[in-house]
Amino acid sequence: DLNEHKPKAIDLSHHLSNVSKARKTSPLKGLQRYLGREGMVQMAGGLPSPAYFPFSELSAEGLIPDSFPLSSTTSSSSAFSWLFKLFQGLKTQEKTTHLTIPKYPVNPNDLNLAVSLQYGLAKGLPQLQKILDEFVLKVYKPAYADSVTLIHAGNTDGWYKCVQTFCNPGDGVLVSEWTYPSAIASMAPYNVKPVAVPMDGQGMSSAGLRKVLSEWDEGATSMTRPGLMYIVPVGQNPTGATMCVKRKQEIYDICVEFDVLIAEDDPYYFLQEGPYVRKTERSASVQFNSDEEYLSHLAPSFLSIDYQGRVIRLDSFSKTISPGCRLGWFTCNPIFAERLERQGETSTQAPCGYGQSLVTVLLLNWGYDGYVRWLRALGSQYQLRRNFILDCLGDEFHLKLDYETSGVWSGCDTYRAYDKAPGDATFNEKHAVFKPMFSLVPPTSGMFIWLQLHLDNHPSFNCDEETLEMQLWVDLAEAGVLFAPGWMFSAKESNTDAPGKGHFRMSFSNAEFEDMRKAIATFGAVIRKFFEKH
Ligand code: PLP
Repeated sequence: DLNEHKPKAIDLSHHLSNVSKARKTSPLKGLQRYLGREGMVQMAGGLPSPAYFPFSELSAEGLIPDSFPLSSTTSSSSAFSWLFKLFQGLKTQEKTTHLTIPKYPVNPNDLNLAVSLQYGLAKGLPQLQKILDEFVLKVYKPAYADSVTLIHAGNTDGWYKCVQTFCNPGDGVLVSEWTYPSAIASMAPYNVKPVAVPMDGQGMSSAGLRKVLSEWDEGATSMTRPGLMYIVPVGQNPTGATMCVKRKQEIYDICVEFDVLIAEDDPYYFLQEGPYVRKTERSASVQFNSDEEYLSHLAPSFLSIDYQGRVIRLDSFSKTISPGCRLGWFTCNPIFAERLERQGETSTQAPCGYGQSLVTVLLLNWGYDGYVRWLRALGSQYQLRRNFILDCLGDEFHLKLDYETSGVWSGCDTYRAYDKAPGDATFNEKHAVFKPMFSLVPPTSGMFIWLQLHLDNHPSFNCDEETLEMQLWVDLAEAGVLFAPGWMFSAKESNTDAPGKGHFRMSFSNAEFEDMRKAIATFGAVIRKFFEKH
């Protein structure tokens, strides 16, 4: 038993919001214990007869778990072109496995449409629940014994439910100073405010967190000390930062000391790409000998250090299966799971039965090992994309390695991007006098590269970084390349971590490889012209 010898979650029900406390158990719930009884004639609920469901069977062609190779590491650019061909080839020659879900299976306990398309429990399909329970125990290893999984309709829904369940109007939520804007958009209309915590190269700073909490002044802020944190610890959106277990432990301990819950929004967990190695130094190899070894190299979840049950982990199938299935799950203590389930009963109910059925049949077919194999290869695919875009940036600009000592990247090796003379592959003395146009830290996870623009090196800089950031953004958009402007991600009133800097977030998750290369060339042309402006 993987939960043997672990403590049980402590009672943290004082964190529940007034709205959550006011939720009554659904009156129909009392009927449920009779539902499964043999011979019971169900005449209580308004359930349509499955005979009227216009699907007698759902079938799908699912990709096989080893559709993508495990290694993305290539030593030369010609190997990249081989990989593009492979990528294109995979699209046309996908190897599939046939999946079917009948309405009425021979064994009524098998996945079936009569049940999965029916009104169901907000908990979700029992077959899916079982898969998730096993997955969480084996992969995230919660440090307490009675963690519970509960499905939701993706992390956007999961976080919204957290806000409703743990926040009262006027409360504050601890967030990183740069954060995912939709998380703040879920809180804002309820008068729940972000409280920005400084970041460094690993994401949220533990020293910064301690300072915010220990110096909290209710009078000055007109707010009680926040009791909830929202954090994206892997492939942080937008900075791309990934937090190691030591930092997680420090943050967790501070949260225990100040009684703060941690909502761990972790959609990029399996897109851990490892350190970036320059093209010329890269060698081809399979990184891990086994799935176990692979899993043990992933940054551990906050769950693995959570001995009290104060972490509400949000997992999503959006980045590992597809965003359109609108499916994910909470892992949390049983008291919170019960309240979140009650909330589900009056909002989404169970996520859509079609999506749940298809994801479930695929995972049943793949099995735990197959799913881990899929995730492992997905990590390699994103590593390939991350390497590719950084290589393109390295071809377009002169990237000079530097070490950052302050701001959101303190403690990181940073690349500063300088202009490169046409036809000049090496950085020469003449160009050394130029100032960098932007800096970046190669992300080790996720989908994003966060560019810090050195707008104070712009000839007409006049403490107007927001205007310059948008001017460059418009120039770039006019030239046909869309990045996300930095101001969108600011949790603070003023949006710069350092005066004179602007930011762009570029994603490498979706564009075709050749389009990415063209986009970086366009970016090069536009930003050079921009920095020449007087
Ligand atoms: N949380 C973060 C940090 C994200 O970056 C995203 C998507 O970009 C989401 C949540 C949305 O996830 P979902 O599709 O599961 O709602």
